[in-house]
Amino acid sequence: MSDASGMNHWIDPNGVVHVVFDRRGDKVNLLTPGALQELGELLDSIRGRDDVRGLIFKSAKPGNFIAGMDIEAIASFTDAFKAAEGARFGQDVFQKIEDLPVPSACALNGACLGGGAELALACTVRVAADSTAVKIGLPETQLGIIPGFGGTQRLPRLLGLMPSLDLILSGRTLDAKRAHRLGLVDLVVPEAYLERETLRLMLKAAGGLKRRRPLMARLVEITPPLRRFVIGRARKAAEAKARPENYPAPFRALEAIEAAFSVPLHQGLDLEARIVGELVPTRTSKNLMWLFKSQSALKKDAGGIAALPRKVRRAAVLGAGIMGGGIAQLIADKGIPVRLKDVRGEALLAALRQASKIWREQVVRKRLTPRGMRQKLGFIAPTLEETGFSRVDIVLEAVVENLEVKQKVLAAMEELIGARAVFASNTSTIPISDIAARAVRPERVVGMHFFNPVHRMPLVEVIAGQRSSPEAVSTVHGFAIELGKVPVVVRDSPGFLVNRILMLYFNEALRLLAEGVPVTATDRAMEEFGMPMGPFALMDEIGLDTGQHAAAVLEGAFGKRIGSATPLLQALVSAGRLGKKNGKGFYGYKNGKRTRSDEAVSKLAGAGAPLQLPVETLQERMILAMVNEAAICLEDGVVREPRDVDVAMVYGTGFPPFRGGLLRYADSVGPAVLVDRLSRLADAHGERFRPAGMLRDMVREERRFYPA
Ligand code: NAD
Repeated sequence: MSDASGMNHWIDPNGVVHVVFDRRGDKVNLLTPGALQELGELLDSIRGRDDVRGLIFKSAKPGNFIAGMDIEAIASFTDAFKAAEGARFGQDVFQKIEDLPVPSACALNGACLGGGAELALACTVRVAADSTAVKIGLPETQLGIIPGFGGTQRLPRLLGLMPSLDLILSGRTLDAKRAHRLGLVDLVVPEAYLERETLRLMLKAAGGLKRRRPLMARLVEITPPLRRFVIGRARKAAEAKARPENYPAPFRALEAIEAAFSVPLHQGLDLEARIVGELVPTRTSKNLMWLFKSQSALKKDAGGIAALPRKVRRAAVLGAGIMGGGIAQLIADKGIPVRLKDVRGEALLAALRQASKIWREQVVRKRLTPRGMRQKLGFIAPTLEETGFSRVDIVLEAVVENLEVKQKVLAAMEELIGARAVFASNTSTIPISDIAARAVRPERVVGMHFFNPVHRMPLVEVIAGQRSSPEAVSTVHGFAIELGKVPVVVRDSPGFLVNRILMLYFNEALRLLAEGVPVTATDRAMEEFGMPMGPFALMDEIGLDTGQHAAAVLEGAFGKRIGSATPLLQALVSAGRLGKKNGKGFYGYKNGKRTRSDEAVSKLAGAGAPLQLPVETLQERMILAMVNEAAICLEDGVVREPRDVDVAMVYGTGFPPFRGGLLRYADSVGPAVLVDRLSRLADAHGERFRPAGMLRDMVREERRFYPA
C-alpha cells in the first residue's frame, strides 16, 4: 500500500510487519499529521492479529531515516491548547507502538531526528548502520520547543538522567557509535546487514531484553535530593548560556525530564504536551523555526541562478593567515584535499598549528579519534611554491586586503589553474568586479566571503561579480553548503551586506565613546539586547587595523552616511592598539582573555566627562542605525529580500536568534515607530539617521518587511 505520506507496509511470511518510510518528492522523510494518522490506523489494525510476530520500521531514503516532524505543521499552531493537542496526538500514536503485544524495531540507516528519534524510542529495539550518515538526536530545544512525542519521558527512562539532560538541553546529535555507547541504539552493524540484524534482534527481544545501567547513576535518579542537585547544576549551566526569558525551552525541558523520574509515564507525557503547547506560540520559537526554514531555503537558492554547481574535488587556498588558515582547516575537515600557499613559512606553520588545535579540542571531547585527526591534517598540503595548482577545482584567495595584491595573485593563478577552475576571493570589502577587472577569465571570478572564526561562523556571502558566470556562482554556493555553511547570495558592492551594516553599528558605538559613554556601558547594553558580545569587544576580535581599513573603503564608497570612524580607529592603531591579536585594543588582554577596558581609549577618542545614558538609548542608537542601513541595502538591491538580511545578520554576526534577525526585530517595533524614532535621532545627532525611503514608504502603505 502507498499513500500521500509515502508510507508503505507489508507482512512477510514470518508474520513481521515491515513499515517503510518513503516520502514522495523529497530526499528526506518527515512526519506529518497525515503520516501519523495513517501510522496510528495501521497500529490499530495489527494489534489484535495473532499472525503478527513483530514490527520493523525502515526507510527507503538513502542516508535518512526520519528527519523529524514537518516544521510547517508545528509552526502553524498559534494557540497553546491546539499545540498541546497536536503533541498528544503524536504521543498517542507512539504509545501504540510501545503497547503492541509483539516487539518492534527501527533500522536506522541515516538521520533520525526529533519526532523520528521519538518513534525509535517507542520501539523495543534500535539498530543503526555503521555509517557516517547516521545522526540521532532531539534538536527541539534549538527550535525553541521541547521534544513533544514522548522524547522527554522515554529518553531519560532509557539512558538515565545525565545523558538525557545533555542531549535534550543541547539538542546535539550522536553518531551511531556514540549512540551505541550511551545505550540509545542496541547494535551497530555494517549497512549491508542492517535489515537482517534488526529483524534478528527484534525477534530475540520477544523473549525479553535486559538493559543495565550503572548502579551509581540509578541511585542518583531515585534519590530526590541527589536528583535535584544534578538538575540544579544543569540549570546553572543553561543559565550561563542563555537567559530563560529569551530562550525558555531548555529550562522547560528540565521540568519535563525531572518528571520522567518522579511521576508515571502518562503524567509525564501530559506535562510534556502542556509545555510544548506553551512554547510553540512564543515569539522565540516562531523566530527560531523561521530561521531554520529560511536557512534551509537559502541552501536551495543560489540567488535565482539555475546553473548546476561543479563538484569540488580538490581545492587551494592562497594566504595562510587568520582566514586562509581557517578556510583550509574547514575544507580538510570535510575530507577534501587542499593546497595551502603562503609567501611566509611561519604563516603556514601557524595555520597548521591552529588547525591542529581545533581538531585536538574535538579529540579531547571525544568527537574525533587521534587517527581521524591525523587523516584530516593530511588533507592540507602546505606550500611556498607555485606548484600543484593545475588540477584544483577552486582557488580561495585570502591574502591581504589590497586590490593590487589581489589582482596580481589572480593573474599569477590564471596561468596555473585550469580554465574551468573557479577563483573565489574572501575579500571583506573590495568589489569582485574590481578584482576581476584585468582577469583573462573574469567569468570564473566570484566572491566567497567567510566570517571569523571560520570554523564557528555559519555564514558565507556568495558574491557574483558583473561578469561571473552562473555556473561559477553556483559552484561557490554549492561548495559553501558542502562545507556546512549557510550561503547568502549578495550583490557585488563595497562591504557587501554584513560588513556594511556592521560598520554603522561600530560607527555609532565609536560616536558614543567620543561623547563620553564608557566602552563597558555600550558593550553591556548590547549584550543585554542579546548580542554574543558588544561592539567594542567585537572590534577587538576583528582587529582595529582591519576595521580601520574596512571603514576607509566604506566611507570612500558611501560617504558621510556610513560614518566617520576612520580618524578614531587610525589614532588607536597608531597608538599600537590592534585589538585582541596584540593584547591591546579597547580592552586589555592577557593570554587571549579580556581583562578590562582601558581609560586611555576614552582620551584617544577625545571624550569629555563620562556620560551616562539609559541602556535603551544606547541600544536604540546602535540598532536603528543598522535597521536603516539594512533598508537602504534592500533599496540598492544588495540582497533580494528581508529574509536574506536576517539570516546573514544572525549567522554572520550572532544577532540574537530569538529575535529572528534585524528586520524581524524591526517589524516587532513597527515601521511607524521606527520612522518616528529615526527622525528624532536625525534631528538630535545628524543626517545619518534620516529614515530610508523604503521605511517611509512602508509607513505610508501600512506595510512591514514581512507580511503578518
Ligand atoms: P592575514 O594578514 O592574517 O593573512 C594574510 C596572509 O596572506 C599572510 O599570511 C600573508 O603572508 C599572505 N600573503 C600575502 N601575500 C601573499 C601572496 N601573494 N600569496 C600567498 N600569500 C600571501 O589576513 P586575514 O585576516 O586572514 O585576511 C585575509 C583576507 O580575508 C583579506 O582579504 C580580508 O579582508 C579577508 N577577511 C578577513 C576577515 C577577518 O576577520 N580577519 C574576515 C573576512 C574576510
